[in-house]
Amino acid sequence: MNILVINAGSSSLKYQLLNPETGVLLAKGLCERIGIDGKFTYKPQIEGKQVLDAVDVAMPTHSEAIQAVLNALVDKDNGVIGSMKEIDAVGHRVVHGGEAFNKSVLITDEVMKALEDCIPLAPLHNPANITGINACTAVMGKDVPQVAVFDTAFHQTMPAKAYMYALPYEYYENDKVRRYGFHGTSHKYVSQRAAAMLGKKPEELKLISCHLGNGSSVTAVDGGKSVDTSMGFTPLAGLPMGTRAGDLDAGILQYLMNKYDMNIDTMLDILNKKSGVQGVSGVSSDFRDLENAHKDGNERAGLAVDMFNYGVKKLIGAYAAAMGGVDAIIFTAGVGENSASQRLDIASGLEFMGVKMDAEANNVRGKEAVISAADSKVKVLLIPTNEELMIAMDTASIVKG
Ligand code: ADP
Repeated sequence: MNILVINAGSSSLKYQLLNPETGVLLAKGLCERIGIDGKFTYKPQIEGKQVLDAVDVAMPTHSEAIQAVLNALVDKDNGVIGSMKEIDAVGHRVVHGGEAFNKSVLITDEVMKALEDCIPLAPLHNPANITGINACTAVMGKDVPQVAVFDTAFHQTMPAKAYMYALPYEYYENDKVRRYGFHGTSHKYVSQRAAAMLGKKPEELKLISCHLGNGSSVTAVDGGKSVDTSMGFTPLAGLPMGTRAGDLDAGILQYLMNKYDMNIDTMLDILNKKSGVQGVSGVSSDFRDLENAHKDGNERAGLAVDMFNYGVKKLIGAYAAAMGGVDAIIFTAGVGENSASQRLDIASGLEFMGVKMDAEANNVRGKEAVISAADSKVKVLLIPTNEELMIAMDTASIVKG
């Protein structure tokens, strides 16, 4: 079985063709500058096939982009499948499913309508995801099943006490203002892998999943279900991130907006794009740059990393309390998979709750590993995330019924 996984942005589209049963990746790539001067990248994963790296392909709309993907996949010389018939279904990453979607769904006309209804909740992302779905329908026809996999769906199991904001209740009732959480596909994937690594059923485990990348979130997963997560109504909440501020006192907005005569759009631009570890360090949003700058004596780069690690540590403590314990802590995404020093710093001082790292085992990157000491009560796991595989697996299970 082959699933085409699509992650459509406003002017870009990432794709992977993979087999959800074996996890084998056949090809992946990227369409960029859609509607501008189209650049197409194609990376077949089969020996001897030619890679295309940002070559010029006219892509006035997402439909031409999808057509370019299909052309490459079935190309006589460099393709990885014989014909389009070998694509069993398409799985789309959709950012926001609101409260309407608590799991992945087969896309129908009603689902498209419900996706449109979610646009106000994710005005930058959902329209592009919808465009990607429509482009696939236009190019591939209605007979190829398509499935929507939501970043928010995994978190729909949170109890009201975790998802409500302490605002007047009508903002929830009338305006759907609540915590939704994001990175759900990643948290779901790594928590399933954690169960497999520990030889347990997800229902038997209390897990804390730390997705630490450019965007970061931590999720409490109790019995296979998300019960709390650090991102909120939007992905701006929770930890300080590459350029996002994370949680802050809303009173700061009024103070700064008045003082500098800024409107809310300017303020939000600062909170989303000029804050986080970039804003604090003044150096970079990339944790590798911060580590290097700190080594060269830049104090603020060190402070930014300290603030981030401290934020993760506090969430681990909070979620252990929320679940009444924790069996394993998972590190994933760019920082979580690669930065041994940050993992060590985050876990240090948590010995009181049974977390004991193994410095040598922790000296690993990018592959599944137990990085806690053999006698650590709480296991600490490194698990590379694979959102595309999770999307393909969900898509396959829905298509198979
Ligand atoms: P995104 O949220 O964009 O998907 P990723 O999960 O790819 O981000 O994470 C990207 C981040 O991972 C980079 O900003 C970088 O700071 C961090 N990263 C990657 N490799 C390392 C490393 N070796 N050490 C520390 N940080 C790293």
